[in-house]
Amino acid sequence: MIFLDNASTTKIKNEIISEIEKSCQLFFNPSAVYSKSLETKKHVLNAKEQICNALGVTYNDNLIITGSATEANNLAIIGSARKKDAQYIFSQGEHPSVYNCALELKNRGYNVVFAKLKQNGEVDVDDLSKLLENDTCFVSIMHVSNETGAINDIYRIVKLVKSKQKDAIIHCDGVQAFGKFGINVANLGVDMYTISAHKFGGPKGIGALYVKDIKKLKPIIFGGGQEFGLRSGTENVQYILAFGKLCENLNIQENYKKVDEMRKYIIDFFSNKNDVTINSTLNGSPYITSISFEGVRGETLVHMLEEDEIYVGTGSACSSKKGALNRTLEAMGKTKVQNEGAIRISLSSENSLDEIKFACEKIYEKFLILKEKLR
Ligand code: PLP
Repeated sequence: MIFLDNASTTKIKNEIISEIEKSCQLFFNPSAVYSKSLETKKHVLNAKEQICNALGVTYNDNLIITGSATEANNLAIIGSARKKDAQYIFSQGEHPSVYNCALELKNRGYNVVFAKLKQNGEVDVDDLSKLLENDTCFVSIMHVSNETGAINDIYRIVKLVKSKQKDAIIHCDGVQAFGKFGINVANLGVDMYTISAHKFGGPKGIGALYVKDIKKLKPIIFGGGQEFGLRSGTENVQYILAFGKLCENLNIQENYKKVDEMRKYIIDFFSNKNDVTINSTLNGSPYITSISFEGVRGETLVHMLEEDEIYVGTGSACSSKKGALNRTLEAMGKTKVQNEGAIRISLSSENSLDEIKFACEKIYEKFLILKEKLR
């Protein structure tokens, strides 16, 4: 099997599976008062420190563990919504877990606007700057696009937002960046940053929200008051410990180098091929490459590749509704034909160059067969 859909999820690392198994012994509820629980709570705090270290911040009650990045994004956005008349800005290319929160706010009567994307998939900072002329209380811009790998210059965006709207809260969905790039949220200057464990070798069903000032956030679920009252529910001790362990052993530079070499091969291979458009740029994340095969359907290509046990994505797994066009590619100005023929190849350091060479040949071969059939 050649798995090239790592932006949707990744295989859990063996050492993380061992960590989960080991931590099952620690089954106590961290909120109880006996010593076993206090010990469990200590382990949880230690894991939070490990996650914060990887985020470039010191742990200081500023990390809320959630059941997914989707939940962290919901908490960040819905939990920050206050004034209905001030503006809430999002980009057109946000993941559905952000975009649909924006639509929900709009439905509830909030003033929601969307910043355009440039042709290369990055947020159009000039358009964002114009939007910031209006009274703005909240901005959410993703770090790395899950569709194309386009990287937004969050540092520059934060400077721009703060220069025009100094009190605006800035949230960043860092799911496709964290674990793959050296992140320092303190330097980036964002108020909130979302991460997820299953995108880089951890288990599904655990995410986190870094929050600079938790007093600015309101809970969206209510219960026993865990996570400073911002995320009630008994802590998922096993996955929190696994997330901590995962963050302790990041191999960012080495992995980047390996993945970058594979990405370069993919781009070289598909450049200058007839009816093939590469939607990602070399400035983007090497982990994600979007390619359009004109005249065929991306979904059909995905199924044909599956026959050879090669797995690629058609776009965001969470939004792969039948017949719907990819919103990000649309916002980048791609034609309907390019949009329909798009596939997403997303890598992990577990992949090898030999796998990529084989997969590229197969993808192109299947594309030509399909195109011939449809002639
Ligand atoms: N944000 C981005 C950019 C993503 O790529 C994803 C997952 O595809 C999510 C958020 C949601 O993550 P989770 O599966 O942890 O809810």
